[in-house]
Amino acid sequence: MENQSFDLAVVGGGIAGLSFACASAKKGYRTLLFEKDNAACSASIRNFGLVWPIGQPVGQRYELAMKSREIWLQLSREAGFWINQNGSLFVATCEDELEVLNEYCNYNSSNAKILSPSEAANISRPILTKKIKGALYSKHEMTVNSPEVIHSLTTYLRKKKNVTIRSGEFVYEAANGIIRTTAGSWRAERILICSGSVTNALYSNVLKQSSLTACKLQMMKFRYGRGTINIGPTICGGLTLHHYESFSKCPSIENLRKRIRQELPEYVKYGIHVLVAQNNYNHLLIGDSHEYGEAISPFDKAVINKLILKYLEQYFPVKNLELVHSWHGIYMKNPNRVAFVYQADPTTFLITGFGGSGMTLAPAFAESFLSSMNGITEISTHNL
Ligand SMILES: Cc1cc2nc3c(=O)[nH]c(=O)nc-3n(C[C@H](O)[C@H](O)[C@H](O)COP(=O)(O)OP(=O)(O)OC[C@H]3O[C@@H](n4cnc5c(N)ncnc54)[C@H](O)[C@@H]3O)c2cc1C
Repeated sequence: MENQSFDLAVVGGGIAGLSFACASAKKGYRTLLFEKDNAACSASIRNFGLVWPIGQPVGQRYELAMKSREIWLQLSREAGFWINQNGSLFVATCEDELEVLNEYCNYNSSNAKILSPSEAANISRPILTKKIKGALYSKHEMTVNSPEVIHSLTTYLRKKKNVTIRSGEFVYEAANGIIRTTAGSWRAERILICSGSVTNALYSNVLKQSSLTACKLQMMKFRYGRGTINIGPTICGGLTLHHYESFSKCPSIENLRKRIRQELPEYVKYGIHVLVAQNNYNHLLIGDSHEYGEAISPFDKAVINKLILKYLEQYFPVKNLELVHSWHGIYMKNPNRVAFVYQADPTTFLITGFGGSGMTLAPAFAESFLSSMNGITEISTHNL
């Protein structure tokens, strides 16, 4: 196989690897992608499927998310997968939450607006307005069905973009233009390793010594009784303000965080914030929690799922929900950076650590990274 040469090889068929393969194929590079499983089954198919600019701090990262948004829309047209431009709704059940939302709108009024409880109910029929003080609506967020999208992008790359996809092939060595796998050896001018949370294989020492931390998130999927509902935008509540960096500039955020720490210690302990997304089969995806490093167990905690539903019942009719699946996913979190980038040699880069934003940031990050790799010898980190 070494006699067949490629311009760029990607290790990993999650959203990061696929984003690089898409960007590479767009540039006309002869592209090769390896995925150790028959079909990728890690974080990229276990998430909410949200393209979520509002979760990014205003500025460079928000712009990167908006660029990804454009790429997603284009890929949806070309690859033919479902995408819903449904926006996001942040529901406030306490005055301090509404205050933070107002402050956010003051410096980001082009992206978001404040709604009264009845206006919020007009765009999201199922929400319960009794306890709601107001809400924030942002129109830029989108939803994809992540298991379908990962499958669809893989097929699109193989069939329409002439990318060689090697599924079920584990890469155990990748350096200096040579990739060694369980099925043979390959050559490529450049190698990008997007191995997600697999930290015990390629460059394990680098990953161990890095600032990356594993984060486990619990999720549930429900059908809504016998009927169907349309939630409109993706819905979240006050805990999300506590969780996302994008609200940390709001002057009242510290008061809100203090109250949440006092009133909801169990939620803080498990890093819970509550989000409801809807897919193209009208399933509701509800989550999630954040447990880090040593706290990660292979078994899921029933208490986390109960806490999530208990919080949600303040503003959403949970009693009609029928559980379809529950699961967890793991991603690598890299503090204060879009991603972790390590240059192993002049031809090889390890790129992981997109944290909770891989679907939102990886497509645009990949394009910008490949453009800066032009002629590809000198690049060490991406400092966004
Ligand atoms: C529950 C949950 C909800 C989330 N919600 C969202 C969301 O709504 N929006 C958002 O933007 N982000 C979200 N995220 C984050 C997002 O899912 C991740 O940032 C993203 O999936 C990471 O993609 P990745 O390709 O780096 O890693 P992965 O998806 O883990 O993919 C890595 C792939 O590499 C393969 N691989 C590893 N080593 C090798 C090897 N040696 N040889 C061959 N193949 C190999 C693995 O099998 C795997 O398929 C969520 C994450 C979770 C867990």
